[in-house]
Amino acid sequence: MSGGMRQRVMIAMALAGEPQLIIADEPTTALDVTTQARILQLLADLREQEDLAMLLVSHDLRVMAHVADDVVVMYAGRVAERGPAREVLEHPRHPYTRALANNVPAVSTKSAIAEPLQGAPANPFDRPTGCAFHPRCPMAQDRCRTEVPVLREVERGRFSACHFATEVAS
Ligand code: SF4
Repeated sequence: MSGGMRQRVMIAMALAGEPQLIIADEPTTALDVTTQARILQLLADLREQEDLAMLLVSHDLRVMAHVADDVVVMYAGRVAERGPAREVLEHPRHPYTRALANNVPAVSTKSAIAEPLQGAPANPFDRPTGCAFHPRCPMAQDRCRTEVPVLREVERGRFSACHFATEVAS
């Protein structure tokens, strides 16, 4: 069977248990773009028809932008930002989200890669002090190296774990 056929079998097996919630972990990995679109449409249709909740885990921001109502961006095992998907991806309130979104042409409104992420991802078992993103963050300041930022509501329905969430948007 092709990758797309195997995904459909998995979805059928999951639906056989009549779930209220489907957790789809990287459902389109290793599929070609056309099959990805079909699988995502299938999941969206099923969610609508069966009145299901769906938790989608993905590193692909284009998938999140097109499928998700709400998005939670994780870094080093912690929530960096959360809120309505379109708003978060088009107007990030965390430098990590902004770097991710700027490097995906389908999400970014900018024509070129604006801020390629430097450095390696943090090890969740050996986190840097303060904000775990500070070794890679273009906005890092002294307090970022010592103070762990708390996830807080920065505007209605929008949450960010950045000391400078307000400045990120400007
Ligand atoms: S708290 Fe500091 S290091 Fe962390 S994302 Fe915000 S500006 Fe960057």
